[in-house]
Amino acid sequence: MRGSRRADAVVIGAGSAGLAAAIRLAQVGARVIVIAAGSGSTRLAPGWIDVAGYLPGEPSPLASPRRGIERLAARRPEHPYALIGAEVVAEAVRWLIQTVAAGPLAGYAYAGGIEANMRLVTALGALKPTACAPTSFTAGEAATLHRVAIVGVPALRDFHAKLCADNLAAAGIEASAHSVALETSRADASTLELARALDDPRTRGAFAARLASAVGASEAVGVPAILGLREPHAVHAELGQRLGRPVFEIPTLPPSVPGTRLDEILRHALRTAGGTLVLGSRVVSHERSGERITRIATDTAGSPTSYEAEHYVLATGGFHSGALSLDSHWRAREEVFGLPLAGLPREGAPRFVEGYFDEQPLSRAGVAVGDDLRAVGAENVFVAGASLPGAVPWREASGEGIALASGYRVAAVLAGELGAAPAPQSSGAAAPAEGATA
Ligand SMILES: Cc1cc2nc3c(=O)[nH]c(=O)nc-3n(C[C@H](O)[C@H](O)[C@H](O)COP(=O)(O)OP(=O)(O)OC[C@H]3O[C@@H](n4cnc5c(N)ncnc54)[C@H](O)[C@@H]3O)c2cc1C
Repeated sequence: MRGSRRADAVVIGAGSAGLAAAIRLAQVGARVIVIAAGSGSTRLAPGWIDVAGYLPGEPSPLASPRRGIERLAARRPEHPYALIGAEVVAEAVRWLIQTVAAGPLAGYAYAGGIEANMRLVTALGALKPTACAPTSFTAGEAATLHRVAIVGVPALRDFHAKLCADNLAAAGIEASAHSVALETSRADASTLELARALDDPRTRGAFAARLASAVGASEAVGVPAILGLREPHAVHAELGQRLGRPVFEIPTLPPSVPGTRLDEILRHALRTAGGTLVLGSRVVSHERSGERITRIATDTAGSPTSYEAEHYVLATGGFHSGALSLDSHWRAREEVFGLPLAGLPREGAPRFVEGYFDEQPLSRAGVAVGDDLRAVGAENVFVAGASLPGAVPWREASGEGIALASGYRVAAVLAGELGAAPAPQSSGAAAPAEGATA
């Protein structure tokens, strides 16, 4: 064992749930270490905060996320929103907006809240309900779109402007498809490479000029979400100015540029508040005394390290991230602490149903928790994000809302247990630095 480190709280997982919990705890002066096997889903997802877009079984999108939270909670008392409550979700979204505004990407901002869903354009030309998104997306709000140009970039092979435009047209929005070259060193580039290319003022100037001559009399222009990693606000503003009309981003396949921006902002907020992030560390074992976890160990690059903390936050995700697994007898298991699960189909019932888009019997499975998100069977472990049972995020369009709000809520409960003052809303409050390793 290489060494042992102590903290008030160890957060396991660096997705938006784990980082939200860790930042809030660090902001009240707690010594926090985040341990993560890798980056969370944040870098794959579009960077939108979907809070409640649909009620499963009802085809129409929800106009109000607040109402969606209330209805999801009323349908199922075990739903994370029934435990968290709409007010905490609203606070968490406001906190995120402030954290982005105070972050390292000058001018980059999020807009929205839980009162009204926006409907924003996806890569397939669908209009997806979301509560909060970067302002580089919000000019694509469906209510304001009439005559729109959708622009693809030849080097980005997975974005099909015509497919997007055709589906928008089918939804009653006049849409045309265009292709505009963006100079890169390679013919086939990733979203991240293209975003870095647009951070260069010369490249974006040339791109803006070509764009201006391609998009005709459209009233707004939609482009894949590649508008800069370091200077996204400058890229978005300059294109809007040069074209003389609103420009909006459209999500792409992973890796996600806006997701990467959000992840960078959250990691920066953690460092600023004095927290530590140890990436590339998988928790492989733990010790417990009765109902308390006393120590965990990680396998960092072949040299194990152990961590001791008063409290642990389990924010390891769900089946998608390996936090939950199924063995060959179809038994589900929580991988880090072997905690009891809830939301499982009853013994002998099918684990899967045939229809790909139907609700799968295992999709509500997660770690069993009490009202304060404390794990059943481990009194100093709190659970946040996709590890929680009771929701079907991809059907509800609730994944990021649950992750963010549960991380925020867990931090508030833990701050109380640690005797710390409630964290201020702004992300600026810094505790003494402990040598962040992010
Ligand atoms: C491609 C994609 C697109 C998505 N699109 C949307 C969308 O449009 N809207 C939306 O709301 N949601 C979307 N989501 C879902 C949303 O991103 C997740 O619901 C949410 O991010 C879950 O966050 P989390 O923090 O709970 O878990 P995750 O982000 O999955 O993070 C889990 C973390 O735990 C770590 N970990 C796991 N096991 C261990 C271990 N043993 N030791 C140490 N670390 C461990 C992982 O490395 C990771 O850091 C999408 C997800 C994906 C993958």
